[in-house]
Amino acid sequence: MDIIKKDSEYIVNTYSRFPVCITSGKGALLYDDAGREYIDLGSGIAVNTFGAADGEWAAAVATQAAKLQHTSNLYYTEPCVKLAEMLCERTGMEKVFFSNSGAEANECAIKAARRYAFKKYGDESHSTIITFKNGFHGRTITTLAATGQDVFHTDFGPFTPGFVYADPNDPASIEKLAAEHGCAAIMFETIQGEGGVLELPEETVNAIRNTAKKYGLLIVIDEVQTGNGRTGKLFSYMHHGLEPDIVSTAKGLAGGLPLGATLFGKRTADVYTPGTHGSTFGGNPVCCAAAISVLSRITDDLLREIERKGEYIRGALEGSSGIKSVSGRGLMLGVECGRPASEVVTDCRARGVLALSAKTKVRLLPPYCITDEQLEKAISILKEVCAK
Ligand SMILES: *Cc1c(COP(=O)(O)O)cnc(C)c1O
Repeated sequence: MDIIKKDSEYIVNTYSRFPVCITSGKGALLYDDAGREYIDLGSGIAVNTFGAADGEWAAAVATQAAKLQHTSNLYYTEPCVKLAEMLCERTGMEKVFFSNSGAEANECAIKAARRYAFKKYGDESHSTIITFKNGFHGRTITTLAATGQDVFHTDFGPFTPGFVYADPNDPASIEKLAAEHGCAAIMFETIQGEGGVLELPEETVNAIRNTAKKYGLLIVIDEVQTGNGRTGKLFSYMHHGLEPDIVSTAKGLAGGLPLGATLFGKRTADVYTPGTHGSTFGGNPVCCAAAISVLSRITDDLLREIERKGEYIRGALEGSSGIKSVSGRGLMLGVECGRPASEVVTDCRARGVLALSAKTKVRLLPPYCITDEQLEKAISILKEVCAK
């Protein structure tokens, strides 16, 4: 069967796929239908936390699937409760709502921020949410509206109103927007992933903290990509000592199965009441069993390993020929090369290394289990491709 031809015949044409059909993998190695081996520096976009077909993860999934795969949220099940308890104990957050994707986790966060403000003011006067230019929050109509990039704001209008965009490099723009609009919350990624692996400057993080306090705004952090250990802390806000009111996550949480989570702090824990939000699949036992297995392995030792591997990549690339800069933290890195990122990604693939791009950067999101040997080999190939 010609997969690539049939894909173009039957699958809606929304993706610019690479001309590779992946059939299996083990850890940081992936194999295509011609039997070629690749070193994976993308983890399925920060999803396959412990790489492909990890034994412990697969066993957790298979065990739960053989017991019970789904009940609906009309009944209690153990895995989602256990996972919520783990998430709260490790973050200090108080309650969790489970969904199936990053966009849904953010939709849940946005609804909660609006409902919080509606209850506080008794009307819609403080429904505006400040987000950031160049951010990314998802593909639904509302999360596209939250995404501060003009390229996403065409063709599908009308978009959900009530979002204004601060400039990540102009800390004063945050308070200016808070003063001009009736706001409920400030929502952001600490490292803009799709936007090019750009970390918010510390002055911007401070301005968020100060403006939120002065105007009574909720702090909502989109940890869909940065969460679950990716940056060397369980959640990236922990690098900045932030105390969020709402945290959304997804991607790597269940290590390869669809699961979104929205975490609520003291002020927001009781915003939702019966009937005000829901999801058919949310908190699915198989996905939650997968996430329990993932989360229980994101230990302090593993987080140190993530930092160490990230430092290795940085050290190997910085100052190397054809490499201008390296951004990001832990195993979420952006590499500005002298050559266009798409060419670098293509040449790497031809040499058996799968990298990603984000805007002008080559983006690296390797699985945490990548071995030093695999990493050295992949990074030396990336260096050679950049030096070309
Ligand atoms: C990927 C991503 C999303 C969207 O997640 P989906 O699971 O594709 O809906 C939202 N926010 C950030 C920061 C992301 O990286």
